[in-house]
Amino acid sequence: MFIDHEHIYNLLEEAKNASKEEIQEVLDKAKERKGLSHKDIAILLQVEDKEQIEEMFKIAGDIKKSIYGNRIVLFAPLYVSDYCVNNCVYCGYQHCNKFGRRKLSMKEVEEEVKILEKMGHKRLALEAGEDPVNCDINYILDVISTVYKTQKDNGNIRRINVNIAATTVEEYRKLKEANIGTYILFQETYHKPTYEKMHPNCLKSDYEYHLTAFDRAMEGGIDDVGGGVLFGLADYKFEVLGLMIHNEHLEEKFGVGFHTISFPRIRKAEGMDLETFPNLVDDETFKKIIAIVRIAVPFTGMILSTRESADMRREALRYGISQISAGSCTGVGGYKEREEGKIVDQFILEDHRSPIQVLKELIDAKYIPSYCTACYRKGRTGDRFMSLAKSGNIQYVCGPNAMTTLMEYILDYGDEELREKGEALIREEAAKIERDDIKKLVLNNIERLKNGERDLYI
Ligand code: SF4
Ligand code: SF4
Repeated sequence: MFIDHEHIYNLLEEAKNASKEEIQEVLDKAKERKGLSHKDIAILLQVEDKEQIEEMFKIAGDIKKSIYGNRIVLFAPLYVSDYCVNNCVYCGYQHCNKFGRRKLSMKEVEEEVKILEKMGHKRLALEAGEDPVNCDINYILDVISTVYKTQKDNGNIRRINVNIAATTVEEYRKLKEANIGTYILFQETYHKPTYEKMHPNCLKSDYEYHLTAFDRAMEGGIDDVGGGVLFGLADYKFEVLGLMIHNEHLEEKFGVGFHTISFPRIRKAEGMDLETFPNLVDDETFKKIIAIVRIAVPFTGMILSTRESADMRREALRYGISQISAGSCTGVGGYKEREEGKIVDQFILEDHRSPIQVLKELIDAKYIPSYCTACYRKGRTGDRFMSLAKSGNIQYVCGPNAMTTLMEYILDYGDEELREKGEALIREEAAKIERDDIKKLVLNNIERLKNGERDLYI
């Protein structure tokens, strides 16, 4: 198995003794973006010195800026079924929690999607519990097709990332054929003893089967996969090394590693007590984790959800996060229920701002909110995407697409204030584009949008 626990323990133990000079050497290497070894990452994970931590934040911020510029991609989760046969100790949907479970009918999927489209969303993350009887692959495929078909006014969902339980090559092949964007699956924890304790007597209990899900997904033709752990279950240092080793395993075997990594932290949920988790990660440590992962895998998208407070999200954007959710509901049928004044969530959310509020705050902080979904629609997935990212030319597509999708949002869903702020930012950003041909293209696309065209991208 590619997650060798002894190897990880040894790396962390040896890194404890790293001198200040040795740490500095790793920081200098990180600045030059030469790629870090496991040993280097272990050393960064052991840094306690305040000045060196500050330097780490600065390096991560610089890497983020030079690769991603100031665009932030927005998405929303769509929970379609809370039937679940598993017993994940940390989750409100665990099998032994008794509540009226349900899945959305196709009509209800349409209703949820229309609300999401009215909020301006173009990119969804589809979420469902594991239940081979009540929520099988055919149900998920029907949902995907319904989501893509549902259009309200100018709204349409252009990319569906899917987060469903580990499954077989055949089922992954079906997801690929249904045109999904990224297949997302959190390992939850790479630490096998903790994994087994957290997932007792259920389908998800098999650590190896879960760990090799992306191998099967890639064999089934899905080349964008998104990993993550649930921070708070096991020692975060072990988890970060686990993530990096998993990423390398995929790179070695399939030529491409994680397209994205998500950063969920344990939140209070029904039927669990936070006190019983001894590895909870505090805010300072969480920021450190984000910075180290940014430094270690500069080209991997990093995702943060509304589980985090608005303040934490602001900080995390500076050190590495490139995608956030906005206006989220994490309950099945949650968007409609919110419209009706009821809220039922899988866990407690911290950030309740509406998308338009999030957009205004991002713009005030000089970020360009982006609803771009261009890459997979242009066939830029897997290693084709990574080689574009690594060549640095990605900036000539991401930035322009951020500007045009922001303009589209302003025209269809913006208010006066957003229009003023947003247009000013777009003008400023367009003026900064170095290549004249691209600048011309962007300005021309902005005019075409104003004249009623939609969905323009490069
Ligand atoms: Fe089910 Fe997923 Fe919750 Fe586990 S984390 S109980 S698999 S919904
Ligand atoms: Fe993402 Fe590709 Fe759009 Fe850039 S151009 S924001 S990488 S989809």
